Amino acid sequence: MSTSEKTLTPRLVKKLWVAFISIIFLMGASYVFITGYFANKYNQATAQRVNSNIANHIIEEKFQNASPFLEDGSVNKPLFGDLMHDMMAVNRSIEVYLLDDKGGILYSVVLDHSDDAPAKKVSLAPIQSFIADKGANYILGDNPRNANTKTIFSAAAFDQNGRKGYMYIILAGKEFQLVSDNLLGQYFIKLGIGTTLLTMLFALLVGLSSIWFLTKNLRLITGIVRRFQEGDLNARIKNPEKSDIEVFANSFNDMADTIVGNIDQMKSVDTLRRELIANVSHDLRTPLAVLKGYVETLQMKKDSLSESEKEEYLDITHSNIDKLSKLINQLFEYSKLEAEQVTPVKEPFSITELSYDLIAKFKVIAAQKNISLALDKGEENSMVFADVSLVERALQNLIENAIKYTQSDGSVTLSITRKGKNIEINITDTGSGIPKNEQPFIFDRFKQVNKNSKKQGSGLGLAIVKKIMDLHGTTITVLSKPKEGSSFVFNLPVAL
Ligand code: ADP
Repeated sequence: MSTSEKTLTPRLVKKLWVAFISIIFLMGASYVFITGYFANKYNQATAQRVNSNIANHIIEEKFQNASPFLEDGSVNKPLFGDLMHDMMAVNRSIEVYLLDDKGGILYSVVLDHSDDAPAKKVSLAPIQSFIADKGANYILGDNPRNANTKTIFSAAAFDQNGRKGYMYIILAGKEFQLVSDNLLGQYFIKLGIGTTLLTMLFALLVGLSSIWFLTKNLRLITGIVRRFQEGDLNARIKNPEKSDIEVFANSFNDMADTIVGNIDQMKSVDTLRRELIANVSHDLRTPLAVLKGYVETLQMKKDSLSESEKEEYLDITHSNIDKLSKLINQLFEYSKLEAEQVTPVKEPFSITELSYDLIAKFKVIAAQKNISLALDKGEENSMVFADVSLVERALQNLIENAIKYTQSDGSVTLSITRKGKNIEINITDTGSGIPKNEQPFIFDRFKQVNKNSKKQGSGLGLAIVKKIMDLHGTTITVLSKPKEGSSFVFNLPVAL
């Protein structure tokens, strides 16, 4: 078993875990920050709403009928300072600013002056909108002691002796910020730890179960793949359509079917090879044995044999040598075709002319058996696009068979007919015919009908024809009735 297989599932689980934990941390952090942000805002909004009236209240209640805090255009500092400090004793978080009508700071009362570099001016826009909606909405204004920040405030306008301005009270002053930051920090840590621990616990439960469910199918499939690898060729994934990884499950099943199919094919090819070797050795041995017998007789009895006997023995020897060389040639041809060493060289040629040539060639043999051999419907010159020498070989085998399996006084007819874009070639005889049950097998190597027949050949002739047809992308079919005859038909494309 290879290491990649061993580690497939754990590695996937590890990746799922890493993704899961990253998501949890991200979610935790986002949760803490969002909560912190809104808690802070909520806190500030509450403080502003509660104290929204404070500036108004000071102006109306404290100064309206008392000594004015602006005298001759300048601030009555003792009066103003006293009052404000009294207030700050109660609420240390506020800072009070007296602004002119342009937002310029006239005077400020703050608790802690240590790091002061206060601004000279604040923006009036938020103050005016605060006054306009009477402090009903949460709004942030400039922080005179920290130009980079905005802060909650309360504000009110005043008009004293024609002198206009604003009372601007920072509600979350420096003191407030210090306490708030400190508390927020503590809550952040507590919130962070709490949230992380809680989410981790849930994540552990949810993660374990979901990863188990997610990888369930994968484990199942891995098990089946392993069974197949160990030799159980029937191992298949059941109901692949129900699997989470349907494509993979289907592919595995298809692959397994292909492998099993290939193994079966290889087995049958192997059986055929064995059959071929057995048959070839038998086919070669018979004529060789005959040859040996006659040659030995000729050697031993050369003086006692008459001339005519010698002649006869030599004729038999000759015909057996012919048989042998024909068989060897056919075997060579078939094995070349089977090993796909033959590439057809296609070209346009006249199938009519080729047929006439072959008829002329076989005329003598046919005449010896008193068989008429002719081309029917041969008036038209039909051109096909094919390998001329391979087609010649195929036709030769078919004509040879037709003559071989036809009795005296019979006939063998070739016909060439145009069928659309094809030319149909038909070789019909009035011979012995082929039994129906044998017809599907005659194109297989070594399938011979009438095994005992004297006429039997190598059984290679039709196998070669079939291979030639395969090379031309066409098929050969047989129509035959025992005792009536046979027709072999094939098509070739018309040469354009
Ligand atoms: P063989 O060398 O035995 O003729 P083939 O491959 O040419 O081998 O033919 C296979 C078998 O098909 C033959 O043995 C024969 O039984 C049958 N066959 C082929 N052609 C004909 C035909 N024209 N008429 C009757 N039987 C035929």
